[in-house]
Amino acid sequence: MTNSKTDYNKLLSGIVQELKPYFGQGQQADYIPELANVDPNKFGISLAFLDGRTFTYGDSEERFSIQSISKVFTTAAAFGLIGKKLWERVDIEPSGTPFNSLLQLEQEQGIPRNPFINAGALVVTDVLMSNLNDPYADMLNFVRELSGCSSIEYNQVVVDSELDTAYRNAALAYYLKSFGNLDNHPIEVLKLYIHYCSIEMSCTELAQAFHLFARRNRLDCNIPDLTPSQLKRLNALMQTCGFYDESGEFSFLVGLPGKSGVGGGIAAVYPDFYSVAVWSPRLNEKGNSILGMKALELLTSKSGLSIF
Ligand code: GLN
Repeated sequence: MTNSKTDYNKLLSGIVQELKPYFGQGQQADYIPELANVDPNKFGISLAFLDGRTFTYGDSEERFSIQSISKVFTTAAAFGLIGKKLWERVDIEPSGTPFNSLLQLEQEQGIPRNPFINAGALVVTDVLMSNLNDPYADMLNFVRELSGCSSIEYNQVVVDSELDTAYRNAALAYYLKSFGNLDNHPIEVLKLYIHYCSIEMSCTELAQAFHLFARRNRLDCNIPDLTPSQLKRLNALMQTCGFYDESGEFSFLVGLPGKSGVGGGIAAVYPDFYSVAVWSPRLNEKGNSILGMKALELLTSKSGLSIF
């Protein structure tokens, strides 16, 4: 199905040519002050087929803040640890609201719509805090193991910067606690959540780590066992909830399960074929990378390699 005759290097550079009219549109996230210090003109992409062929362009080896892409790794770990009991505390429906919305949580009595909005990720983080021996080291090791890269780290400067200004996420954490949907102290959960968001990875490392979801083979590792059925469900969640209130748009334009972060990264998978990660810090008003979304739309349109 993946056409071995296609020159993917040429395809990627052709995509970048077509992106030129969009260069300079949007802005980096600045509600986390440290993220505003990143060069907004960075652009990298890494396309990693399951057969081992990898194609890259631009700043594909430079690490950036994965932010909400971490929600896929944390949800995978929590799902592996406690199984479907997870869905008693966090729902599996698209939210149609911004990633840091408080409104829905009030209406739905403290059960977040899905694990990929902030409220849901805080509940997932609470599960990890209660079920891992060392939730800081264990998650980092999980991500290192998936990407095959032992030097991946939290960025303490980004952690401090986000903690300084995490008013909304603190509100969400306390609110969840008031509904009885956090077992641990809200501030401890918030700190751990912010560490997970601060993990830095390159496009190539992310694409490699996302092979887990593209391959959907049972994973035996030091955190949980993840079954093929669980991995299928994680892809379904990425497809329906990976881009907050722009999930329909991403699905429509790109046609792959994926997840974005306000660091400007997007990782996506075409099950059984490839994973891809793209990074460009300028975001649209929904918090998704403008060039990242456009690049993936062009990639699946030009290659014909999407699930729809
Ligand atoms: N750390 C960020 C926050 O909680 C992550 C948001 C995102 O990437 N969408 O606001």
